[in-house]
Amino acid sequence: MKTIGIIGLGLIGGSIAKTFRRVHPEFDIYAYNRSSEALANAHAEGVIDVACEENDPRFSECDVIFLCAPVEYNLAHLETLGKLLKPGAIITDVGSVKGVIHQKVNELGLEDRFIGGHPMAGSEHSGYEYATDRLLENAYYILTPGGEVSLDVLSAFNDLIASIGAIPMVLTCEEHDFAVAGISHLPHLIASSLVNLVKELDNDSQIMKMIAAGGFRDITRIASSSPEMWQQICEENQKNISAVLDAYIRMLVQIRCQVDEKNGGFIYQMFESSRNYRDSIDVDHQGMIGKAHVVFVDIADEAGGIAAIATILAMDGISIKNIGIIHNREFEQGVLKIEFYEKDSMERGLALLQKRNYITYVR
Ligand code: NAD
Repeated sequence: MKTIGIIGLGLIGGSIAKTFRRVHPEFDIYAYNRSSEALANAHAEGVIDVACEENDPRFSECDVIFLCAPVEYNLAHLETLGKLLKPGAIITDVGSVKGVIHQKVNELGLEDRFIGGHPMAGSEHSGYEYATDRLLENAYYILTPGGEVSLDVLSAFNDLIASIGAIPMVLTCEEHDFAVAGISHLPHLIASSLVNLVKELDNDSQIMKMIAAGGFRDITRIASSSPEMWQQICEENQKNISAVLDAYIRMLVQIRCQVDEKNGGFIYQMFESSRNYRDSIDVDHQGMIGKAHVVFVDIADEAGGIAAIATILAMDGISIKNIGIIHNREFEQGVLKIEFYEKDSMERGLALLQKRNYITYVR
């Protein structure tokens, strides 16, 4: 596979393009994006080789075409580009719901050329400017092959995905859509509704908003995700989302009854069970819950405190992903939170700070 096509150069498509450019510099990358600005930037940066028009006949030269636009547009591109594919070429997508596109694949008779894909990576940001060549690294990448894809073809595509640092996993589209309803779609609905609830409950002085921190911020970070994308996901995976929402509502009603009855045993058991299950989740892969490589540091509130730490780390070539003061430390120790890109840089940073007698915490 030497020529890659990408439709939609946003967060995911842009990250796929940048990763191919880093890992396989010899590949030719053809791309089309609705906004010409992102397309021009990617071309100017050398991330893509050819900036194409919509339904450009040059896509027929591609060995693999990745559909990375919002799902409704992926469906339209599947129809037009499906006709352009050269023999042996594969068309894939990155959509967060798989049932809809597989239905279209069956209608178009592309069951032997289509392998659905869903990289379990992303962020609450969207657009090419947030795309990185590391977004997919160590992330599960679900593959949902069409019913007539041969084992050889699936195996070659599996290897291509593994070559860019992701962890391919083959599922049926039904298995995929139910699983993501539980671990991704429901959490987004919970985050969004919780934020809206606090907005409604807050008083005119907005005290809740001011002191919201720690747990509230952790559980609601994803409420900043793209409304357009989440509207589509809810519409496309309605049946599965409805089923897991029902189960969740039943659980909430049960919790409410037990809280009203001050049933300490039940409440203890609930938190104990969730803690045990949460702690058992494999956080080394970005699959379910991305491992955050975070160190907390106690520093005095004086000018230059953060700069001193940033300099110590920079002198050792350690990049900081995020750094910031924690204003509400109800559930936190340490004033300064430093997030690193990888475990290794976190461990090196921690050792450097401890050597300089900083008080550090890792959780
Ligand atoms: P994004 O908004 O960052 O990017 C979408 C890109 O598609 C933009 O550059 C936009 O200009 C372009 N575009 C829109 N309409 C187009 C069209 N008709 N033709 C060509 N380009 C078009 O969105 P994203 O987060 O990269 O999501 C893209 C796909 O990836 C979606 O299908 C989504 O389900 C899937 N996905 C997203 C995430 C995530 O966390 N963001 C994770 C996994 C999969």
